[in-house]
Amino acid sequence: MPRAARVLALSAAFVVTMLASPATAVPDNSSARSAGHEAERHAAARREVAYSVITRGNVTASMKVFRRQAQETYDDQRGWRGGGVEFRRVRRGGDFTLVLASARAVPTFSSSCSATWSCRVGRFVIINQLRWKHASPAWNAAGRSTRDYRHLVVNHETGHWLGLDHAGCGAPGARAPVMMPQSKGTDGCRLNPWPLPGEAARIRRAVRPGER
Ligand SMILES: [Zn+2]
Repeated sequence: MPRAARVLALSAAFVVTMLASPATAVPDNSSARSAGHEAERHAAARREVAYSVITRGNVTASMKVFRRQAQETYDDQRGWRGGGVEFRRVRRGGDFTLVLASARAVPTFSSSCSATWSCRVGRFVIINQLRWKHASPAWNAAGRSTRDYRHLVVNHETGHWLGLDHAGCGAPGARAPVMMPQSKGTDGCRLNPWPLPGEAARIRRAVRPGER
C-alpha cells in the first residue's frame, strides 16, 4: 500500500475508533472535551437563558472583548454552565441584561449600588468598568490575573440574578464561594473566581428538568 493510502486508512480506523468509543463525560478532561464538546454541552444543559448586552455611561473598554469574555465565562464548565445553565446572547431583550457601565453610571440603576463595585438590580447584571479594567485591590495584591477577576465578577453578579445571595467562607484555607464578596475580604479563604461545587449544585437543583 502506498504511504499516503496507508496513512489515510490508519486515520480512518482512528476516526472509527473514536466514534465507537463511548463518550465518557468528564468535564475537566480536555481530550474528552475536544472529542464530544458540543454533544456534552447540550446533554448537560437543563435550562437555557438568553441575555443581551448594553452599555451605560462613558464606556471606553472594548465591547467586542467584553462580549467575548463574558460568553467564555458562561460557556465554562467551571461556571454556572456546570450547574446546568446554558447562556445564549441575543441582540436585544432576553431573560436578563448584562451591562458594562462606567463607574459613575452604576448607581443610576439603584441607590443600593455604589460607583466602586459591580451590582445586580432586577434583570440588570451590572459590571463596573473600573473593576472590569483594573480588577480589585485585594485581587491585584494577591497577584491574581485580571482575566480571572473578570470571571469572578461575571459569575458573582450573574449568580445573584440566578437567585443566590452572599455566602461566607466555609473554612480558613478553603476556596472562597464565588458568591462571597471577595474584594471586601475573604475571612481566610482563598480567592476563587468559580462557583464551588455546592453553589453549582444549588443552581442545578433550582433548575427544573424540562424547563427551557
Ligand atoms: Zn454580591
